[in-house]
Amino acid sequence: MEHSRGEGSCGWQLCQRVFRKSGDRFCDENTRHSISNAETILRLLVVEDDPDLNRQLTTALTDAGYVVDRAFDGEEGHFLGDSEPYDAVVLDIGLPKMDGISVLEAWRRNKRVMPVLILTARDRWSDKVQGFDAGADDYVAKPFHLEEVLARIRALLRRTAGHAQSELTCGPVSLDTRTGRVSVSGNPIKMTSHEYRLLAYLMHHTGRVVSRTELVEHLYDQDFDRDSNTIEVFVGRIRKKLDVDIIQTVRGLGYLLTPPTEAQ
Ligand code: CA
Repeated sequence: MEHSRGEGSCGWQLCQRVFRKSGDRFCDENTRHSISNAETILRLLVVEDDPDLNRQLTTALTDAGYVVDRAFDGEEGHFLGDSEPYDAVVLDIGLPKMDGISVLEAWRRNKRVMPVLILTARDRWSDKVQGFDAGADDYVAKPFHLEEVLARIRALLRRTAGHAQSELTCGPVSLDTRTGRVSVSGNPIKMTSHEYRLLAYLMHHTGRVVSRTELVEHLYDQDFDRDSNTIEVFVGRIRKKLDVDIIQTVRGLGYLLTPPTEAQ
């Protein structure tokens, strides 16, 4: 259990969460994507200057199955959020180089519409007002429980994807984003984290063609080998495991998920 040194007079309340890692590396495949409790497979950005808090947030989100990039000041955060396709952002308001409100305003001016959860100081109600005015989707006041951040991120992502419930289905295939379980006609299917993330992304976008580039950009972090052949390999494995024909290859464009009956 680690406690950060906090910010100002606030001590961070960590809920009963045990961190398995202490280092700053999140590149190990086995630790990065813990499938058993994967909430969803999307890509997030954490912008927080406090190194301990940044690490705690990143660790908690990574353990929950997200791909997480991080930034430690406003400029770096602004750059990443402006150039990478994040599915959601956790953004501190008090940041060096460029404050969180300015970062958020700049993103929105530039038509970056990803959901943003801001972190505000408890007594600064003006932070919240300014934050919402700048285009924030939700806020968590410091000190917070990590579980609350996770729950709010889940809600934001569900809202964005237009899915009120956590179970996605396509024909006989169902995928529970809360538990990270995949089944075909009720029979559980074992998947690796990469396979799961790819399938979940396609299921979130059933009925529309998803390009390989989009998959690579949304599913893998900056360190990932962005060779789109890798995607084909994963799709091949998923097809084999599911043993039902729901992933169609649309030549030159990408993949389309359709229930088997409509696929003919
Ligand atoms: Ca701060």
